[in-house]
Amino acid sequence: MINCEQDLLVNLIELSPRNARRKFRQSIFESWEWKCAYCDKDLDEKSATIDHILPKFKGGHNVKSNMICSCSKCNRSKGSVLLEDWYNPSNSYYSEERLGKIKHWIEDIVLLLSLYLQIKQLRT
Ligand SMILES: [Zn+2]
Repeated sequence: MINCEQDLLVNLIELSPRNARRKFRQSIFESWEWKCAYCDKDLDEKSATIDHILPKFKGGHNVKSNMICSCSKCNRSKGSVLLEDWYNPSNSYYSEERLGKIKHWIEDIVLLLSLYLQIKQLRT
């Protein structure tokens, strides 16, 4: 399971840091089927960007659960605003279904991480 760039760096030593970063980003884009999580726009290698759901300067980390596939327009528009303050019915791209998917993405990883920590504790 890959949750951050460092996981790849540790597990796959033969990868260069640059490749690890690229693979990590691609795994996120693939999870979102190369579509913007916010507006559903089709994206490719050049147009896909990573948006930090919780902005970095507000304490958001470079972990997969906090990183989402986004078009550059949504990424810029969201900027450093909190998800709930930006992605709501006043946003013209808002979709309840997509918000549900985003929340599921966050929760899924949190669940996996807690399982992982439990297993780790059992082993020590
Ligand atoms: Zn978008």
